[in-house]
Amino acid sequence: PRELFVDEAFADHAYQDIALPIECGQTISQPYVVAFMTEKLDLDERHKILEIGTGSGYQAAVLSHLCRRVYTVERWRELQKAAERRFAKLGITNVTTIIGDGWLGWPPQAPFDRIIVTAAAKEAPPALLDQLKMGGRMIIPLGESRDAQQLVEIDKTEAGLTEMPLLPVRFVPLVQGRAGVGARVPKGARAVKPEDA
Ligand code: SAH
Repeated sequence: PRELFVDEAFADHAYQDIALPIECGQTISQPYVVAFMTEKLDLDERHKILEIGTGSGYQAAVLSHLCRRVYTVERWRELQKAAERRFAKLGITNVTTIIGDGWLGWPPQAPFDRIIVTAAAKEAPPALLDQLKMGGRMIIPLGESRDAQQLVEIDKTEAGLTEMPLLPVRFVPLVQGRAGVGARVPKGARAVKPEDA
């Protein structure tokens, strides 16, 4: 029920295939992009997944139905708390959330079968590549600017890492460092446009 993951003011738009604004200047991804990333993860019910960028919790909720356990990292406490309330309301018990810097992953829970990053970076964070299992896969938007991002599939094989571009996208940036208590929405954060992911 995507309407439970958006602000009441946007509930009427919950079933349109567009990204919508959430608290802290962030966005809930476009349903098409959530579905596309989920499909590309090629999940198995035994998988343990790491998500970077909990946001509303919608992507994590979708993943929770398709794998054993989801660990999800968010830098904004307000978003993490709201997502936890939604999981409780929906009876979702296999998602664990934490506030932290997603660049660092979640070392105590590593390695992960799959990693999904829902904010864009210039390069795949090295700590996340380290925390990916051999034979595992990461789906991450990469790009130098907001207007030039590609969703990329990274596979970790015995022969090394392979990268495959999948789809042009527009995600909010993967910011380095966790948001401090009482941190402000960054200057320049703007209302989401329909083409944003
Ligand atoms: N998956 C979300 C959409 C997330 S938008 C959903 O389904 O709603 C991207 C999120 O990544 C934002 O909430 C943003 O605060 C978070 N983020 C950005 N940089 C981060 C970082 N370094 N560590 C953790 N979360 C980060």
